[in-house]
Amino acid sequence: MKIIEPSFEILTPFDREDAMLMLKRIERAARVCYKSEGKTTDTSAPEFVRRIANTFKHESVIEHEIVSVLIVCDRGVSHELVRHRLCAFSQESTRYCNYGKSDEITVIMPFFFKNDAQRYASWNCACTKAEWEYLDLLKRGASPQEARSVLPNSLKTEIVMTANLREWRHIFKLRTSDKAHPQMREVMIPILNYFSEVMPELFGSSEPASDALAIADVKAELEVYKQCVSNTNKACEFMREDTELDLTIGDRFSVEGVKKLRDSRDLWKMRAIQNEGQYEAAEKEVGILKAQIKELYNQRNQLLEKLKA
Ligand SMILES: Cc1cc2nc3c(=O)[nH]c(=O)nc-3n(C[C@H](O)[C@H](O)[C@H](O)COP(=O)(O)OP(=O)(O)OC[C@H]3O[C@@H](n4cnc5c(N)ncnc54)[C@H](O)[C@@H]3O)c2cc1C
Repeated sequence: MKIIEPSFEILTPFDREDAMLMLKRIERAARVCYKSEGKTTDTSAPEFVRRIANTFKHESVIEHEIVSVLIVCDRGVSHELVRHRLCAFSQESTRYCNYGKSDEITVIMPFFFKNDAQRYASWNCACTKAEWEYLDLLKRGASPQEARSVLPNSLKTEIVMTANLREWRHIFKLRTSDKAHPQMREVMIPILNYFSEVMPELFGSSEPASDALAIADVKAELEVYKQCVSNTNKACEFMREDTELDLTIGDRFSVEGVKKLRDSRDLWKMRAIQNEGQYEAAEKEVGILKAQIKELYNQRNQLLEKLKA
């Protein structure tokens, strides 16, 4: 019986240079939404994509790019991986592969038994017995797909997993968290670290892998809420000055909305004269929104503190 460690290999060309090309293609697609293609420069892609995906949560644009990874792990981990429905998988088959040809099976070392001689001995004994029975069943004429019934969860498997960047972010969030299985984390944290090194714009920072994405998310959220609070404050000031009446909620939260308000102050004034009663209602509504945003902002702050702790 061969005992090995889990590992991975990135199959898609995915070094920093490739990542930059991906970011540029994402920028090309995303700018169609805003018709801001004219703002593209040689260096605009990383920050543009980071902001659009993390701050504005316009994550569908990062679905345009995919990465394939070959993962060597045990069947327990692979069984969890294949629950990710948006991925494409190609996995070593225990129906078609005949481990009798090499007269041994390969298993993945459960790292948590490494330093405990008794537990390690129990695990090793169970796998060796399973191997013996598997080979015996083959010798007695069973096919590999029949004999596999006795193979252990620790059996080594190879699985190619292809996902778009949005799905990879989702997978890392679930599978590197401290709630995930330790062997899943053993596999996924190094992969996240690789992604994070070549594409830090979308895959985090130098913070510990387990909470890196969660913290990055909270920070991004915080930025959005800070922006909202600041824009709402601005909108309120303009309202007092110029009598804002019917900005949409989106307008109120956006810098563009505030500019629009300033640029068209004469129009607002005119409309205010026509609809005097609406001024008070609009002001009240903005006041309520402002309070709600501050409450959300506090909640995010508390969450961030919790994550830091
Ligand atoms: C810590 C942990 C413990 C777990 N424990 C168990 C367990 O005990 N038993 C068990 O059976 N499973 C368990 N799972 C697996 C879990 O239930 C999910 O199947 C797995 O995590 C895949 O996640 P997902 O569905 O979010 O992802 P994906 O399939 O990768 O989908 C990505 C996202 O796309 C969206 N999506 C995909 N398909 C649909 C759809 N049909 N409808 C609507 N939205 C969709 C969802 O937003 C989803 O989050 C566990 C997972 C984790 C991380």
